[in-house]
Amino acid sequence: MSLGEPKFRAKQIFSWVWRGARDFDEMTDISKSLRAKLAEKFYTENIKIQEKFVSGIDETRKYLLKLEDGNFIETVAMKYNHGITVCVSSQVGCRMGCAFCASTKAGMVRSLSAGEIAAQVLIVSEDMGERVSNIVVMGIGEPLDNYDNLLKFLKIVGHPDGLNIGQRHITVSTCGIVPKIRALADEKLQITLSISLHAVDDKTRSDIMPINRKYNIAELLDACRYYIDRTNRRISFEYTLIAGVNDSAQNARDLGGLLKGMLCHINLIPVNSVSETDFVRSDAARVEKFRKILENMGFAATVRRRMGADIDAACGQLRRERIKKEAK
Ligand code: SF4
Repeated sequence: MSLGEPKFRAKQIFSWVWRGARDFDEMTDISKSLRAKLAEKFYTENIKIQEKFVSGIDETRKYLLKLEDGNFIETVAMKYNHGITVCVSSQVGCRMGCAFCASTKAGMVRSLSAGEIAAQVLIVSEDMGERVSNIVVMGIGEPLDNYDNLLKFLKIVGHPDGLNIGQRHITVSTCGIVPKIRALADEKLQITLSISLHAVDDKTRSDIMPINRKYNIAELLDACRYYIDRTNRRISFEYTLIAGVNDSAQNARDLGGLLKGMLCHINLIPVNSVSETDFVRSDAARVEKFRKILENMGFAATVRRRMGADIDAACGQLRRERIKKEAK
């Protein structure tokens, strides 16, 4: 929409929005008449912190945010020595149906706009009083199922007049939507791609991740190789360890076999308990054995550090509890 204003006005407004202006009247270097015109034609997103949980152990903060339309999403802020990492949601709910995930239990309501994804970073930054240094798009939703808004979001947060967070500080996680991984590879971005693999054979993976029935492991890993070729970036493979399902020594060796020769890192995640599933977390000794096998095969393999253990809730559980409460 054109307002017939010079280009630099857009830059001024953009910069105000990312400095946290919630209302056009706060944009004091813009004339009153233009502010009135803006308020007539546009609105600023009104996202509120509904609930906040702060860890007494490591300052991790978990937020339940209420969107303008009354829907809820979750955002997590983790404090590391190198700065704050924010884990953002990309959709309200998720339609991917992964068996171990609370975010998908009630299906998907809608995708978030690029502004709604970026606003999560801004809200956390304001709440913590610090600049955010890293972003992981790993909260509720499948980011590649909201592809166009994801790309817009990456542009917005990387803009020097905005949050100015470089692509190398951003990780995008996917359950494996193969055509979108290939499309993303062709964008030649410098973000880190994270693949939720979680199983080494198609039968097990299809049981816990329905997306595998559409794009199997071989197709997924082909797309990953393509991604590495196009971007020269290392892929991070996420592997959730579920006792008795995918955590045997043979599973570890098979995983190493599948990823052999790939520029990658393997991140092992003991499963979180979700009330609607029977999944049990692998014990620490088993997790370490799994990791060691991969290390001996020459992989960089780590176990995800559990942040905010005292406010622990699997991704999507806060929203789920809230929906249940409101339904009552
Ligand atoms: S793990 Fe990710 S892709 Fe799978 S259901 Fe949960 S949010 Fe969706």
